[in-house]
Amino acid sequence: MQVEAKTTGLKTENLKDHSLAALRERFARDGIARYHADQVAGWLYQRGVEDPRHMTDLSMDLREQLAGSWISSALEVAGHARSVDGTLKLLLRAHDGAVVEAVLIPEEQRTTLCVSTQVGCPLACSFCATGALGFTRNLSTAEIVDQLCRAREFLAPDQRISNVVFMGMGEPLLNLPAVSEAIRLLVDPKAFAMAPRRITVSTSGVVPKIRPLLELAPVNLAVSLHATTNAVRDELVPLNRRFPLEQLLGALRDEEQVNRRRPVFFEYTLIEGVNDTPGDARRLVGLLRGIPSKVNAIPMNAHPDSGYRAPKLEVMERFTAIVHEAGLRVTLRKNRGDDIDAACGQLAARGGRGESEEPGPRSLSGGPLEPGGRVVKSQG
Ligand code: SAH
Ligand code: SF4
Repeated sequence: MQVEAKTTGLKTENLKDHSLAALRERFARDGIARYHADQVAGWLYQRGVEDPRHMTDLSMDLREQLAGSWISSALEVAGHARSVDGTLKLLLRAHDGAVVEAVLIPEEQRTTLCVSTQVGCPLACSFCATGALGFTRNLSTAEIVDQLCRAREFLAPDQRISNVVFMGMGEPLLNLPAVSEAIRLLVDPKAFAMAPRRITVSTSGVVPKIRPLLELAPVNLAVSLHATTNAVRDELVPLNRRFPLEQLLGALRDEEQVNRRRPVFFEYTLIEGVNDTPGDARRLVGLLRGIPSKVNAIPMNAHPDSGYRAPKLEVMERFTAIVHEAGLRVTLRKNRGDDIDAACGQLAARGGRGESEEPGPRSLSGGPLEPGGRVVKSQG
């Protein structure tokens, strides 16, 4: 689909930059009745119609007024690549030329979209391809929700995005205002109408922003832990020097919004010779004591920007077995989309192998998509 020209002149505001409550207020300031915001949201988010001229339950005058002074899309598809396992990576270009990635992961029971929140990332984790890019800018709310709008154009008519994970490029909690407004749209019954528990926000540990996020909506929180000592975590996640383990875990332990029904998902990327010993597993169990949690162990995805690699399978299984035997819920994730650089931490907007430069949606196939195979070993 065509994206309007760069935002210049009067047309500077994007309809998708506002939650419904904010759009109602914004319309009221322009002398437009508030309920028209609800109608517009229905077209944008439920019916996928972006051109106000086609919003047929609005008056002709209002359609022209909106088309003349607002833009309504933020990203265009610049390329896509599909993995043998069905994972689809989208390269999406913003009006200023910035490119971000979103990854659509079809599984038997659900279809998950992994969204980006920043162009690059300022936190420079040593094992992450996005971190190696450096930081360009935050994404706007419109650019975050447009990842859903573009991705769903690739789905078959009977498919829908059931889950959203904020685990693409960037650190969501360093862009909380735009992320919050996007979450409001995701959960609004008049916009994307998703249940908050189907949304997961991953952070590398921006401690002061965790409570504001959890108070916004009962979404899931994932915390990228990756290490059990400050010395190792300082190396892997430099943000640890600002918010060390005891501060991060202390904040989570004190957090009222975290409970057994709403545990923290701890991401633990297993890296050979760095954080994969039985001692690490035992320290992890000790650190998480008192915090309702689930541990997601993820094999390190190798990429050219780091020399790290995943441990052998038996080493990873020994690690998860120790954690499991101590009574914690733990899964060892199998990487999806590895062949197209769409797995965790491989998102660097440089295009995967087999990339199509042809823009434009294409149905992902007729029947149900390949079942996951995501979890190679699930415990608890
Ligand atoms: N910035 C946020 C969210 C995006 S990263 C965060 O760091 O939590 C999504 C997940 O992928 C994080 O847990 C991150 O640590 C992990 N990750 C990054 N690079 C990886 C790699 N090369 N292999 C495996 N996981 C990686
Ligand atoms: Fe940023 Fe997350 Fe990558 Fe760290 S792991 S550099 S916080 S995207």
